[in-house]
Amino acid sequence: MTDVRIDDLPVRDELRGKSPYGAPQLDVPVRLNTNENPYPLPEPLVERITERVREAARNLNRYPDRDAVELRTELARYLTKTGKHPVALENVWAANGSNEVIQQLLQTFGGPGRTAIGFEPSYSMHGLISRGTGTGWISGPRNDDFTVDLAAAEKAIAEHRPDVVFITTPNNPTGNAVPRETVLALYEAAQAAKPSIVVVDEAYVEFSHGDSLLPLLEGRPHLVVSRTMSKAFGAAGLRLGYLAAHPAVVDAVQLVRLPYHLSAVTQATALAALEHTDTLLKYVEQLKSERDRLVTELRAIGYEVTESDANFVQFGRFDDSHAAWRKILDRGVLVRDNGVPEWLRVTAGTPAENDAFLEAVRDMKKEHS
Ligand code: PMP
Repeated sequence: MTDVRIDDLPVRDELRGKSPYGAPQLDVPVRLNTNENPYPLPEPLVERITERVREAARNLNRYPDRDAVELRTELARYLTKTGKHPVALENVWAANGSNEVIQQLLQTFGGPGRTAIGFEPSYSMHGLISRGTGTGWISGPRNDDFTVDLAAAEKAIAEHRPDVVFITTPNNPTGNAVPRETVLALYEAAQAAKPSIVVVDEAYVEFSHGDSLLPLLEGRPHLVVSRTMSKAFGAAGLRLGYLAAHPAVVDAVQLVRLPYHLSAVTQATALAALEHTDTLLKYVEQLKSERDRLVTELRAIGYEVTESDANFVQFGRFDDSHAAWRKILDRGVLVRDNGVPEWLRVTAGTPAENDAFLEAVRDMKKEHS
């Protein structure tokens, strides 16, 4: 076979020369690189999933509930209980991970001839999914301390008049939350410029010191809050993301969703997990205190740390962050090099995993002093 590469194929111009999303999946003792929850699902929940999936299996000859009504109702109940804002079935949409939610939003509100903006460094998939849906990507600015530079962001919105604005709070990979007032100001700027859809990506909000921005949905039909069961619910393998928004937004994304996109097995599993919300959220409390411990100890060792409201911590600074990533890996711990110069990111794991990580970076620091 002759050697044919991607760029030898007639791929779309905007995909030429691009790389796929690729956090390394390496087999090392301590993996703290993809912001997963380190705790396996508790056994009673595993049992409940098995029961629910067994029931679903009996009907797999039929297509699943296309509108996922029971699941969306339970997600709405969860949001209402935890988000200090009433959310109903009509406000909620669900898909295979919040990545798919974001893709559906971009297929609906972005697309060829349209643009989306994010304030980087931020979640790289916002840009990648934009390109994948033919939406032009605009990289907006942040301050050196990784807070959103409001004046510069407002200016970029006014100048580019994007169709979709992404605000990730708490932000990935930096960990810091975006203040409510900043989100409000960006929403206003986006409405004045276009009006555009503002997507608040709250994938990590359960780990935050502050509250969800769900109450901002009141009276703001162009605002979307996206969430996931991958982090706080410890169910990254389930692939279940969801959004809360005005019912018209929920109607609109149905124009692009594939029919029956959420399998009966996925819906059954997510419903079982939602029955165990209280237990799962207890792990969140443990992870928050481990996150705070990482911040304190990393600072004590002599690293700089960005304030974190997530289940991960950004630390630095390194003259060569990739070399530092390698040294930590050589000590058996996989962290993440997100390509932010001078910084690396570590996900809060179990206490033992975090001890192993802290040992590795302490050791690395000693080597340098
Ligand atoms: N948003 C942010 C900010 C993320 O960090 C992630 C996962 N890393 C996602 C969305 C996507 O999560 P999922 O597709 O697993 O729901």
